[in-house]
Amino acid sequence: MASGIERCMYCSESFGTAIDHHEPLNHAPRRVFDWYNHLLACAFCNTHAKGGAFPHDKAGNPLLVDPTADEPADHFRLSLTSGEYHCLTERGCASIDVFQLNRGSLRHGRLDAVGQCLDTLAKCAEYLANDDKAEVEQRIRRLGRQPFADVLQELRRIADRPKAGVVLGNDAALAALRTLYTPLTAKPFFIPKQERHEPNCRSWRTAEPFSPPDRRAAP
Ligand SMILES: [Zn+2]
Ligand SMILES: [Zn+2]
Repeated sequence: MASGIERCMYCSESFGTAIDHHEPLNHAPRRVFDWYNHLLACAFCNTHAKGGAFPHDKAGNPLLVDPTADEPADHFRLSLTSGEYHCLTERGCASIDVFQLNRGSLRHGRLDAVGQCLDTLAKCAEYLANDDKAEVEQRIRRLGRQPFADVLQELRRIADRPKAGVVLGNDAALAALRTLYTPLTAKPFFIPKQERHEPNCRSWRTAEPFSPPDRRAAP
């Protein structure tokens, strides 16, 4: 969520072609000219997924994560092995449902993006070994323009975790990530169970095992 140049601020996949009133005008007519209430979104997220939905909790507080004000990582976590978002809070839960963040096209696209990121990072490791930083910067910039920049963000987050090599399955890519993004200020990848919103929430239940492709077999 909220990553990628000119991409939809909700799904990070398609280009933003619509302006979404994050808080719909029938809820907040006075926010019609509020700059921070105008979010770049794709037609699917804006019209088909969110529509006029704007749920509140029992205390009357808005539930949807607002990418202009909230840190999405506080509310849900992206699994790099299933391509799914999992809720950490009630707000994350509501946002995954309303924006349909685990729809099939997004899950598959994120998994493709994981492979693409790892391939690029492994190449970057080679360029770094030759001290060709200009080529590395160009490749990373290019990666940032691809859909699903949230995948690269998640890779950055886990790069300094002890088991990062196991998660990535690609030591060269991990070495490049660490070199490119050191020191990391990201929050710990490991999520203690009690910090999950509800372990039985739909976003956790639908997790399906996924075996990353064997990178060594790549040509
Ligand atoms: Zn979208
Ligand atoms: Zn939940």
